Parts: sequence; structure tokens; C-alpha cells
Amino acid sequence: MKSRRIAVVGAGMAAARLAQQLHAHAGPTETTLYGAEPESPYNRALLADVLAGRHRADTLALPTGDAKVHTGTEVVAVDVRGRALTLADGSRETYDDLVLATGAEPVLPPLPGLSDAKGVHTLRSLTDCARLSRDAGTATRAVVIGGGVLGVGAAHALAARGLPVHIVHQGPHLVERHLDSLAGAALRTALARLGVRVHPGEHAPALDGGPGVTLTSGHRLDADLVVLTCGVSPRTGLARAAGLPVRRGVIVDDTLACAPHTYAIGDCAEHRGAPYGLATTAWEQADVLAARLSGAGPEARYTGSRPMIRLTAGPVEYAAFGACDDAAEEGADVLRIGDATRGAYKKLVLRGDRIVGAVLVGDLTTAGTLTRACLTGRPVGPDPLSLLTAPLSVRATEESRP
Ligand SMILES: Cc1cc2nc3c(=O)[nH]c(=O)nc-3n(C[C@H](O)[C@H](O)[C@H](O)COP(=O)(O)OP(=O)(O)OC[C@H]3O[C@@H](n4cnc5c(N)ncnc54)[C@H](O)[C@@H]3O)c2cc1C
Repeated sequence: MKSRRIAVVGAGMAAARLAQQLHAHAGPTETTLYGAEPESPYNRALLADVLAGRHRADTLALPTGDAKVHTGTEVVAVDVRGRALTLADGSRETYDDLVLATGAEPVLPPLPGLSDAKGVHTLRSLTDCARLSRDAGTATRAVVIGGGVLGVGAAHALAARGLPVHIVHQGPHLVERHLDSLAGAALRTALARLGVRVHPGEHAPALDGGPGVTLTSGHRLDADLVVLTCGVSPRTGLARAAGLPVRRGVIVDDTLACAPHTYAIGDCAEHRGAPYGLATTAWEQADVLAARLSGAGPEARYTGSRPMIRLTAGPVEYAAFGACDDAAEEGADVLRIGDATRGAYKKLVLRGDRIVGAVLVGDLTTAGTLTRACLTGRPVGPDPLSLLTAPLSVRATEESRP
């Protein structure tokens, strides 16, 4: 049987997972990845660990099965009708199916002085990480603007390198998209022990020379290193120029298609109104698409993901699954445990006998059990509190269920 030629634009985390899964299904497919970065696919979610010195950059590589991977190769145009790509060197490549996996790019706040400012960084790629790491080596104090998942990871990494760090965060508490206010407070306490000060509800309206940052409150933070972690936005320029449907991300249906023979997965995709920006989601989408394109699961559908985040970095650890922010508590049963001396906080959000969300800060021993309980959607049984306290006994109970 003739192989279907699958071209993937982007060689990041979604593309690697797709290639690996297509290989595992061993269907009649031939996969080619075109990636603009100089490196083969790598685990971007570990960049903060590289910055902190916990991982070496060359240990981040991700497997790609038997795919051909073209690194340093930007795709500059897509001809959806003619099923062809144009590469930056002007060459044209044809395909049978196209997958857009172009990821996302950092949101740059509209700060006067940003374009001329020295010592200002983003953290999205290994190249960014190497630059930031080099400058962190001579910096004396750092400001991180944005206190979400990425900002906390970056701040923690810089603190681990011995730098005093300030996080300027316009939200009410850290990681408010995934954590409730008590979890955000526990995280703030844990970070304070490492020399990270958090300024919630604050903006940085401009960068001063130096660079330093003056907050809306008038307070000035001196810094010779500024890291912008103000979120990401799906990278959609190529899709838009090709006439594909784009809102915030490339709009895909439950088959992950945005047009005939054209698909989008990962951070660039918008499914049912949601771009996710998480590796776990990118992988779930890649798994569904690989099943469909390989023929192993032609009926496979992607119906959405439960957000799942995790930071495990020495004394600062947290994990959150599903809906667990303050708003998610309405009409739900909530179990909480706090241990101020250990800086630990745990919460379970239940609707009926199902877990819809969970947060763990400072003690992740039950994270694996909770993830499984969340993902399988099984009833929690008579003692839901044990899901926060006793991983072994709960695991035994779960495994004995039919
Ligand atoms: C520091 C950091 C920490 C993170 N931590 C977590 C975490 O703890 N948990 C979590 O779930 N997620 C985390 N994420 C998010 C996670 O990394 C992303 O969700 C994931 O990388 C998305 O995969 P992707 O393939 O869609 O995009 P990417 O991995 O960004 O890959 C996209 C690739 O496409 C390339 N590309 C774009 N346009 C073109 C073009 N025209 N031609 C060729 N190539 C192109 C880009 O250069 C890039 O290499 C983190 C991200 C960062 C940066």
C-alpha cells in the first residue's frame, strides 16, 4: 500500500509526540517534521530546570520515531489546495496531509522602552534559555513580570542560582488560572523562603534604564535582569496567510481538522473556543490525530482536556488537576488540608462522587493517585480524604476496584 505523506510544520512537543505515535501505530504513513529551531524536538517544559542547572540542555531531546526531521527549516507559506509547502530557501515540498504544530510565542506587554532595554528576556526556546542563563551568570537581582506557571518556574530557577528575585504579577495571587487563593498563598510562602518576593495586583507600566521596573504603586525595583512571562499567544501567522480559520488559535473540530487534509494540534490550535498552552494537552491531541492518520483509530475524537500542571523543584512543589480555582468551588464539595509548618496545602473538589479538581502544594506524594482518579473519572469511594493523605492505601483500594 502507498504511504501517506504527512508534513508537520513545527518540530516541538506536539510534533514529536505525533511522530512517535505514528511510528508506534506502524500505519502506512511517512512523516516529515519541519522545525525552525536549530535543535531537534526537545522537552520545552523543562527549560526552567535547565536554567536552574538541574538538567543539561542535551538531555531534553524527545523521540520522534522514524520521522524525517528538518531542523533550522522554516515553512514560510502553505498552499492548502495544492497541498504544498514553501520553505525559507524557496523550495517547495508536497504532502498528502498537513499538520500545523507551530506552537505559541511569548506575549510581550506594551512596555515603553522594551525594544531598547538591555537585560530583558523571554523564555520559550533553548536559545532564549542559553541567553538568559548567560546573563543570569553576571546579574545581581532579577525581576520576573508575570506570576503564572512559567513565571513561577523562571523565578524559582533564578533563585536556585542565588539571585534575589521579585515577581510582579497583575493577578490577585500566583498561578490564579490553575490554583485557588490559598494554594497561591502557600506557594508564595514557599518561594519567600528561597528569596523570591511576590508583588500581586501590580503592573509594571514601563521599564526604566538599567533595567529596573517601576510599579503602578510607585515602588521601584532595581534589577539588571528582567524576564517577561506574561503568557503566550498561539502562533497562527502561517495559517492565517493560508486562509485557514483562525480566532485566537487555528480553529479545529473534534477530529483536529481545520480544513480538508489539514489539521492543527498543540499550542497553535483552538478547540471549542480554548487554546490551552499546555504540553499535556498537546500530547492528548497528538495521540488522537496519530490514531486517526495511521488508521489505528479512524473514529478517535478529541473532546477537550482537563488542565494539569506540575512543578517539582526541591522545596517548591505544586500540582493542579482539572477545575480547582476559587470559581470552581461553587456548588461543589470541597475538602481542604493545610499544614502551615510544612508549607503544605491540599484541596479536592468533588461533584457528587467524582473528582473535578485537585490542588497539592508542598507535598506531592498523592499526585500520581489523584491524576489517575481525575483521568479515569472513577467514583472516589467512601473516604475521599484519603486521596489527599494516604497514597498507598488508596492505590490499593483503586486497584481492587473492577
Ligand atoms: C519554560 C516553559 C515551561 C513550561 N512548563 C510547562 C509545564 O510545566 N506543563 C505543561 O503542560 N506545559 C508547560 N509548558 C508549555 C509547553 O511547553 C507547551 O504547551 C508545548 O511545548 C506545546 O507544544 P507545541 O508543539 O504545540 O509547541 P512548541 O513546543 O512551542 O513547538 C512549536 C515549534 O514550531 C516551530 N515553528 C513555528 N512556526 C514554524 C514555521 N513556520 N516553520 C517551522 N517551524 C515553526 C517553533 O519554532 C517551535 O519549535 C512550558 C513552556 C515553557 C516555555
